[in-house]
Amino acid sequence: MSELSELILRRIRDVPDYPRPGVVFKDITPLLADHTAFGAVVDELAGLCEGIDKVVGIEARGFILAAPVAYRAGAGFVPVRKKGKLPAETLQRSYDLEYGSAIVEVHRDAFEPGERVLIVDDVLATGGTARATVDLVREAGAEVVGAAVLMELAFLAGRDRLAGLDLRSLVIV
Ligand code: IMP
Repeated sequence: MSELSELILRRIRDVPDYPRPGVVFKDITPLLADHTAFGAVVDELAGLCEGIDKVVGIEARGFILAAPVAYRAGAGFVPVRKKGKLPAETLQRSYDLEYGSAIVEVHRDAFEPGERVLIVDDVLATGGTARATVDLVREAGAEVVGAAVLMELAFLAGRDRLAGLDLRSLVIV
């Protein structure tokens, strides 16, 4: 395992029974609070951004990673948000959750046609959020070059829902 993977694993905390009984939540706040670990993660993700015009962050923890990555890489930042949070005209995608469904949105004019995009989030679980985001960004006219997450929960098989996409996970558990 790489030094970076070990550093990440040491700084992500398991919180049992959050947000529901039976779920073990991966809490990234200890990592964010560690300047060395947070900086190493941002540098690693920025290293994936060659030729990228825009880094897309998924609300809310994806914002925390994607914004400094965009700055570091000399790219723009675009937020993908939950329904009703973006002020101007949006495109929408709905996706299934364990109970019910959710909607993500992006501003209709967030990208120039054909802009090259990297999607960033903290955790890939079932892949539903990332899948909806890929579809949304494509509908908005950009090219999704890849996606990157801090941690992939392999037992939930989210990667299968992103078949054909270049998905980088700094840690797979
Ligand atoms: P998915 O759609 O099931 O892949 O869930 C991924 C989304 O839910 C991401 O935007 C994550 O921020 C969030 N998420 C799911 N599980 C966790 C977790 O254990 N820790 C932090 N975020 C999580």
